[in-house]
Amino acid sequence: MEIYKSKVMGFCYGVRRALKIAEKAADSGIKAVTFGPIIHNPQVVEKLAQRGIPAVDNFDGLTDETVIIRSHGVGPSCYNMLKCKNLALMDATCPFVRRNQEMAHRLVEDGKQVILIGEKRHPEMKSVAEWAVGHSYQVETMEDVDALPPLDEAYIVTQTTFSAVLADRLVEALGKKVKNLHVNKSICDATMQRQQAARELADRVDVMIVIGGRNSANTSRLAEICGEEGARTYHIETAGELKPSWFHSRDKIGITAGASTPDWIIEEVVCIMENMKEMLDQEEMNLDVHKGSVVEGKVVDLTDDKA
Ligand code: SF4
Repeated sequence: MEIYKSKVMGFCYGVRRALKIAEKAADSGIKAVTFGPIIHNPQVVEKLAQRGIPAVDNFDGLTDETVIIRSHGVGPSCYNMLKCKNLALMDATCPFVRRNQEMAHRLVEDGKQVILIGEKRHPEMKSVAEWAVGHSYQVETMEDVDALPPLDEAYIVTQTTFSAVLADRLVEALGKKVKNLHVNKSICDATMQRQQAARELADRVDVMIVIGGRNSANTSRLAEICGEEGARTYHIETAGELKPSWFHSRDKIGITAGASTPDWIIEEVVCIMENMKEMLDQEEMNLDVHKGSVVEGKVVDLTDDKA
């Protein structure tokens, strides 16, 4: 069994930045909450809660807490609500998400139609859509493209963590539908690099282990990509989910992780995988010894140098 780690995996700039903001709040001892999970990794969110910074999904009951805005960003209604409630805020919106929000908002202010490509239920999409409310369409699938009304002109903004391949397909289909289509592929570099590295690795191994939150869009994209490349793909959140029955002794195994997966979870997975490798290699050696005895028609102990 051979184990390969992806060239690029784990925390991205936006996630590190968001966690630094939250940890700074925890270190300073202020009363703070995050609005929604700060990143899409349940284990990290749990650790923050243990440090006194829980995630909330509304502002009810908050009086003097500082509200940390999640990395996926929020719409203008959230900023207004915080102002009305006189709550302090720390903004951990990833700058690349902020760029999408500002771009969509500026286009709408200029009277343009915006097509948002991404997952409609993802908080980033929801936040960007709120900045472009009334003048935007959301496209996630080919069916959404078919359902669009005829448009003379539109501007595309793409969710930062969307699949680059699917975005290309959707853009191509939109190009046939919208006369004047202005394409902005705003998938962030961190997503592109992780997708590219996962695709290359999945192409040359038998099994891919993709580590990250099940609610993480970018991790789920990585798992989809690895599956598309033909690798037996397992999406796990923690090392505890690994099963020896997933692997054969001669498998080549690839490991990758989403942009919201912390190093300590990746290291645990790698450590368990290495133990499993040792175990399976040992079993393979025992099998070879056994096979040798059958082929030769006599018992040959290949582990002893008796020749
Ligand atoms: Fe920002 Fe990209 Fe990381 Fe999302 S994946 S937090 S957009 S750097």
